[in-house]
Parts: sequence; C-alpha cells; structure tokens
Amino acid sequence: MKIMKFGGTSVGKPERMKSIIPLIRGEESVVVVLSALSGTTNSLVEISELLYSGTKDQAVVKNEALRSKYHEVVEELYSTDTFVKEGHELVNSHFDFLGDIITNSFTKVQEKAILAQGELMSTGMFHKLLTENNIRSVLIPALNFMRIDKDGEPDAFYIAENFSRELANYPEEKIIVTQGFICRNAYGEIDNLKRGGSDFTASLIGAAINASEIQIWTDINGFHNNDPRFVGETKVIREISFDEAAELAYFGAKILHPSSVNPAREKNIPVRLKNTMDPQDEGTLITSVSALQDYKAVAAKDGITVFRIKSDRMLMAYGFIRKVFEIFEAYKTPVDMVTTSEVSVSITVDNPRFIQQIEQDLKELGSVEIEENQTIICIVGDFRTERTGSAPEIFEALNTIPLKMISYGGSPHSISLLIDSKDKIAALNLLNKYLFDQ
Ligand code: ASP
Ligand code: MG
Repeated sequence: MKIMKFGGTSVGKPERMKSIIPLIRGEESVVVVLSALSGTTNSLVEISELLYSGTKDQAVVKNEALRSKYHEVVEELYSTDTFVKEGHELVNSHFDFLGDIITNSFTKVQEKAILAQGELMSTGMFHKLLTENNIRSVLIPALNFMRIDKDGEPDAFYIAENFSRELANYPEEKIIVTQGFICRNAYGEIDNLKRGGSDFTASLIGAAINASEIQIWTDINGFHNNDPRFVGETKVIREISFDEAAELAYFGAKILHPSSVNPAREKNIPVRLKNTMDPQDEGTLITSVSALQDYKAVAAKDGITVFRIKSDRMLMAYGFIRKVFEIFEAYKTPVDMVTTSEVSVSITVDNPRFIQQIEQDLKELGSVEIEENQTIICIVGDFRTERTGSAPEIFEALNTIPLKMISYGGSPHSISLLIDSKDKIAALNLLNKYLFDQ
C-alpha cells in the first residue's frame, strides 16, 4: 500500500482537487491523506483567537465569510445537482457546528474541535467527488485511529492496531481517504499534531502499515538546495537521506514537517516529495542512503532567540550545564543550537513563550544576555569530522556577515550558524554563489 498526502494548495481550489483524481486512479492500493483547503486552518485559528479575546461578533462574521467561500467551492467542484446539493449540506453541517460553538459554548477543548473542521470538510468533499466520478473509496475517520499520548507524542502502537482494524473492515477497497493533522489525545478529546501536521499523519500511517512508499504532494518539485523565496537560482535535490532531510526540514525548509521523517526512517519506508502542478517530475526521494556531496542544501530558520549565560562558577566545574538545561526543560522549551566556552554557554530556542521566566531562573546561575530576531542557517552536506577543507569555504562565503554562533561536529551532515535575521537574505545568496556556483 502507498500513502499519498495532498497539502492545502493541492486541495485548495476545485480544479486542484479534481486534478488529484488521475494521480490516485492508477494505484493498486492507496491511503489518501488530505490537509484542509489552503488558508482554512489559519481562518479557524483566527476564529478561536477572536473567541479567546471575547469578540464573538467578529468570530461569527469570519465563520460566515468562510462558509460562503466553501459554498463557492462546492458549486464548482461537483457537476450534478445531487452532489452540489449534498456538498452544500456537508459544508453547512460543519459551519453550523462552528456557529454553535461560537455563540454557545467555547472552551479550550472546543478550540481543537474548531481546528479539526478544515480536514473534516476537505476529506468529506473529496470523498464525495470520487463518488460522483464513480470511483469507489472509503472515508476512514482519523479520529478512529490517530492518537497522541499524555506528552502529545503519537502512540504508534495504538495507531497501528486501530488503523489495521479499521482497514480490515474494507478488504476490497483500493482507495482509503482520511484526514491529516487531526487526532485524539490521551483523554479521548479531539486534538491535533500541530500546524503542518498532515505530513506527520502520512508518515505515521505509512509506518503503521509498512507502506511501500509515502508520497507528500505539494506545489513545489521537492527539496530545493536553497530557499526559492529568497534566492533566485535554486535546484531541486533528487535524492537525500532521512538524516539530511530531517535537518533541512527542521531548519527551515517548509516543504516537509520535520517530525514526519522519523516514523518513515524507523521503518525504512521511502518518502517521495512530489508536485501536483508537475506530476511528471520525479520530485525528491528520501531514503536511508544518499550520495555524499560537499554541499547539498542550505536552509534558514527564523524567529530564534539566543541566551548567553556566563558564570565563573562554570570554570572547571561539572554539572553546571545540566543545571542550565534543566531550566529549559522545566519550561518544556526545546533547545536548538548550543556552543560553550569554559565560562559561558550560548543556547538558542525557537519558542519564545517562556523567555522571561527562563531568563529569571537562569539569572540564579550567572549573568544572562538575550538577543531576539536571530536566524539559524543550516548547511547540509558532507561534514564528517575526518574531512578537511569544507568549513573554510563557508566562512569565506560569509566573511561580510557577522556570525554569532557556529555549530560544527554535532552532525556529520550539517553545520549550523547563527546570524541576525536582517542578514539572512544576503547570507543565503552568498552561500548560493560560493557553494553552488550560482
Ligand atoms: N491544516 C493544517 C495546517 O494548516 C495541517 C496541515 O496542513 O498539515 O497546519
Ligand atoms: Mg505542509
């Protein structure tokens, strides 16, 4: 069985949704995982934010505006009166549900139910589209099998057991449709795998059933060797390893949710990134092997904050860094880059939520300096520590850019640098010119 996940832009317009049909039609047996129509989850987030701030009227207006947009999609999506009518009913049932939460009973648990409506609608609409086109499929609700545990981590065992049980009900079906992103939590409530989590769903399902391949369909031909939004000349990377892909996805390449690499890697299932606008293109293939290359790709991650902690108590002491890390742990704040000297340590985080509390606690250990608006530049390539000669090229390329942290030797596949966000575009272009001769 193959998994094919289609993202928001691949289902965002009626003609795009229709263009998925020929892509799945030739498949022996496939699980189709869908995101919400592009922009929908953002609108649903805005609705819940309006509810949090007590502006119910505006939430109603937003909900109705979104409802009208969906009715327009329905008009274009289906060609027969019966399906147009059913489509409108489907859309109304979801927006009535949202309307009811908005006016009557908003709580934290319902926030997640609000966010779930996007994927519930896209899959409902797509399933109907297949039916109208006389293509057999079944819609298996993700809420029946996708689950996270108390720590918010997917429960792989539960998912495998329950998805297989669901599948066993439809031994004859070749096309299974389900929602990305949404799940239940340890208490059985509706929850989700965090923004962009549909890729993660695809990978978790792929691992659960030992799929032959996991395909992630977007509107770009795969991983690029640099960020096409900021750099003119970029190239598609045709083959990349799980490790390299994980670094790129984590450090800024928007095409793939970073968590989605792990389940596939653990079961050694190839992941293929494909473009719905250019389905003939082979895309990027992610597997456990990859040819070594001096420089494969560059990615940038914004919104980074750096903490610089300095303390004489660190001098020849042991256990100091543990105390520092415990503070980040206490606030459930993951750490990205770390560099140390004998009396100081610099640490970056991408989650600004507890910066002040963390700063307060760190001050018990020494002096603390914080700088926001930083960017991590990650260069993926062959950085095995026994090699010579690769790092100097990077430093030469960037000799006009102040480098604030350098992390080398943590991974044989990457080097990370911290720079000011205002220098990002210049840095990406310089690296493109020097490392990729472009
Ligand atoms: N619809 C969700 C989001 O926008 C999940 C996804 O698209 O992957 O974050
Ligand atoms: Mg995505």
